[in-house]
Amino acid sequence: MHCPICKSNNFKSYRGRANARCCGCGSFERSRLLWLVLETLKISQISLPFFHFAPEIGIAQRLAESLGDRYRPFDFDPDIYIKGGINAERFDLCNDTQKVKKGSVGALCHVHVLEHVRCNAAFVLQELNELLAAGGYHIFSVPFFSQQYRENLSEQLSVADRLEQFGHEDHVRSFGTEDFSLMFEPAFKGLERISLRDLIDSSVFQEANIPSRALAKNSSHGIMVWRKCS
Ligand SMILES: [Zn+2]
Repeated sequence: MHCPICKSNNFKSYRGRANARCCGCGSFERSRLLWLVLETLKISQISLPFFHFAPEIGIAQRLAESLGDRYRPFDFDPDIYIKGGINAERFDLCNDTQKVKKGSVGALCHVHVLEHVRCNAAFVLQELNELLAAGGYHIFSVPFFSQQYRENLSEQLSVADRLEQFGHEDHVRSFGTEDFSLMFEPAFKGLERISLRDLIDSSVFQEANIPSRALAKNSSHGIMVWRKCS
């Protein structure tokens, strides 16, 4: 077993998950899966900007090295990245996508971000897709906490209610395993979905200690990859 991000061979268990955390870079399974996807898609060689929302520190550091100015890390609260050496820019997914030129982005990525965003999530996905150039990749992941989609954007909802309804005190929605396609695939009109199993050999997943549940449909542990058609 080795970590695809930092090449360490040392792993430790985390919350009952054997060898979940890399001792070298601190990555968990989902970050390693994300890195495998980015490597396989040769994201470090794209010529247009790569937009990374709420970046994973270990991945951000490596992409900043290879992409230089084309690497654009963003967050609603960019100051939290300063100690990791990442110069993130402030970006509000509800308002700032309209300020970016359409078709100007080579690839974009957000992992477990949309459940925090206080506006229409399908609209955000659609706006992000508009930013992509032909052939560009939209790489993302959301947590699935219910069978049917649930959402409550009210500031009045208590922490206890958010925990119960969405599984986390900062989440404003829960994505549904049964209705995700129905609700969100229309936002991907003009893009094709790429299967992880087609993209990456299963032995590579095992080596990086990525659980098979990450490859199941609508898994909180998985990564979805879409490519904008030419
Ligand atoms: Zn590592």
